[in-house]
Amino acid sequence: MKTSLGSWGNYPPFPQQGHDCMWRDGLPEHMERVILDHGNSLPFGNGRSYGDSCLASSDHVLHMRFLDRFIHADWQTGVIRVEAGIMLADILKVAIPNGWFLAVTPGTGFATVGGAIANDVHGKNHHLRGTFGNHVLRFSLLRHGEQALTCSVSENPGLFAASIGGLGLTGVIQWADLQLMPIRNSQIDSTVVRFASLEEFFVLANEQDHQHEYSVAWIDCLARGRNKGRGVYITGDHARYGSWQVERPGRLSVPLTPPFSLINTLSLRAFNACYWRAHPTMPQARRSSHGAFFYPLDRIRHWNRIYGHRGFQQYQCVIPKAHAQAAMAELLDTIAESGQGSFLAVLKQCGDIASPGLLSFPIPGTSLALDFPHDDELTGSLFPRLDAIVHGAGGRLYPAKDAHMSGNDFRRAYPAWERLEALRDPFLMSRFWKRVTL
Ligand SMILES: Cc1cc2nc3c(=O)[nH]c(=O)nc-3n(C[C@H](O)[C@H](O)[C@H](O)COP(=O)(O)OP(=O)(O)OC[C@H]3O[C@@H](n4cnc5c(N)ncnc54)[C@H](O)[C@@H]3O)c2cc1C
Repeated sequence: MKTSLGSWGNYPPFPQQGHDCMWRDGLPEHMERVILDHGNSLPFGNGRSYGDSCLASSDHVLHMRFLDRFIHADWQTGVIRVEAGIMLADILKVAIPNGWFLAVTPGTGFATVGGAIANDVHGKNHHLRGTFGNHVLRFSLLRHGEQALTCSVSENPGLFAASIGGLGLTGVIQWADLQLMPIRNSQIDSTVVRFASLEEFFVLANEQDHQHEYSVAWIDCLARGRNKGRGVYITGDHARYGSWQVERPGRLSVPLTPPFSLINTLSLRAFNACYWRAHPTMPQARRSSHGAFFYPLDRIRHWNRIYGHRGFQQYQCVIPKAHAQAAMAELLDTIAESGQGSFLAVLKQCGDIASPGLLSFPIPGTSLALDFPHDDELTGSLFPRLDAIVHGAGGRLYPAKDAHMSGNDFRRAYPAWERLEALRDPFLMSRFWKRVTL
């Protein structure tokens, strides 16, 4: 079977032909056939990467979503073996009633395990638990024309390291063993408080991040003058007492893609100002479901359509600790001045737990992520200015979100790229990798 696929940002517009993988047994033959017919391919999870890292240079991908079965679960130890196409939200449906949670989850439950490993995703607890790869015990990797290999820190350790954050280029992950984290119930006790400036954010984050399992901040990226850097700081912990509830997916959906983006500067400024004012000046405790806390955007299906036919791009960078505050101020000045920006603007302190992966994105410092409706101004004017600030501060961009980074910037920021290239399956190639390495 074949499916038409794309990346979450709908930019760059290279529709992918998805060759659906249904059974692990049939995978070697399936991979062989797609590569024979199209020259190269790339594993594809659920297309929650924003740019071109999940797009094959042949535009023919191995669609892994249907390999979504539990193979084994030990609820005494919290170790599960799952097929790589299973979505994180589907793992939680089974794990939560058994008293376990994902040790690391990104801001969407629709990512698959294969995608989470290949981008070595991080979550709101990076400061305490590192990345997804820190909790992967082993996986099975299939390379074109070879027997499947089991990879872990002790078996094929080179391929283990290269595949965590390996952007799907080292082989197809068929299944993975994950170590889950014990919980006492499914709810999250959180605290929200608004802050008036970037300085206040850094004071809050430095004081409080380590007292909580989760922390993150929303920032008003269009605020200027004395309001510059204002936002909302959110912490969270798994509740000690409460109920076990597995949530149903949201029913709301954006039914079609409008011809133009519904996000514009006027609507954004108004939204951001109201959103900021709606939050308390003193810390306020709240209890929320895990879905509302981790995956608020998943409640509206196809929300990416609001950006219209031209799609959107996410800009996510991380700046090392020593330069983070100054660089963040400069980035926000540049964005506010441009008048472009998003209501989704997220600030997060990354911790210093090293990932086992070669090309993992987080480094100790501060990460900023923003969505922008795509237009030529973005890549012609705003992004180069932001890139120069990131470059100057020794930071880097996140390949999972990227559709514009220059080859020079990528190779400087990820010097281990040549080690990944040496272990790349020569028949797997993405549009991203071609763009930044060739
Ligand atoms: C609303 C939203 C919030 C997000 N929040 C975060 C966040 O907080 N932190 C974060 O880090 N990311 C975040 N992301 C990004 C997302 O988590 C990652 O891009 C994730 O990797 C997507 O997984 P996927 O299954 O959709 O993979 P895809 O996007 O389809 O593919 C991603 C990569 O994985 C590779 N791949 C997929 N399956 C396999 C496999 N079986 N074997 C080998 N390689 C494979 C692909 O080749 C590709 O290189 C967010 C995305 C969205 C839409």
